[in-house]
Amino acid sequence: MRLTDNRYACEKQQFELALRMIGHEARTRTIRECTGLSDDRIRKVYATYFRNTGRDGVRRRRGKSPQQIGLFVKNPQNQLQATTLVALFCASLLLRIDGERKVHACWPRPDVEFGHRVCRAFETYLLLHPKPTLSFEWAWNLLRNISANDELFLACCRHCRSLYVQDAYALDDRRCPSCALSHA
Ligand SMILES: [Zn+2]
Repeated sequence: MRLTDNRYACEKQQFELALRMIGHEARTRTIRECTGLSDDRIRKVYATYFRNTGRDGVRRRRGKSPQQIGLFVKNPQNQLQATTLVALFCASLLLRIDGERKVHACWPRPDVEFGHRVCRAFETYLLLHPKPTLSFEWAWNLLRNISANDELFLACCRHCRSLYVQDAYALDDRRCPSCALSHA
């Protein structure tokens, strides 16, 4: 009896996460990674709850997550939004920043709790930025990319000492996006 209850609770959580992620237009592959549901189950959830429901805005995304980092550092506005997401990922205990500004992933691999935390961080980001430039899949890509400490890193502003997301291969004038925007 208890085993059945646990299994039901577990499936309910997987299912709720799939709904939440489809609502953010996450890709099937990303949803599968977190929920453990098969592509077929995810398709059925989508077909049942989102197709022909009047929620025309929700599209099903296929294929891989965007991999480039250019969008995060395209302009100070995007840089500021990417930095907000990194701060929210830290607050969600998905990332940790050490004393040398290196970023560490705190979750061994995606699971249901991980997925809900990414959703919560992304939803808070949408509340903070009325004109969001980063989609859920870009946020997912950022979470992966920043903890690789390769193409992206956290630079420190020489004016206000804030940390901000920067392209590791770009010339960095050590001015954070907030300072750049307020002096523009
Ligand atoms: Zn600054």
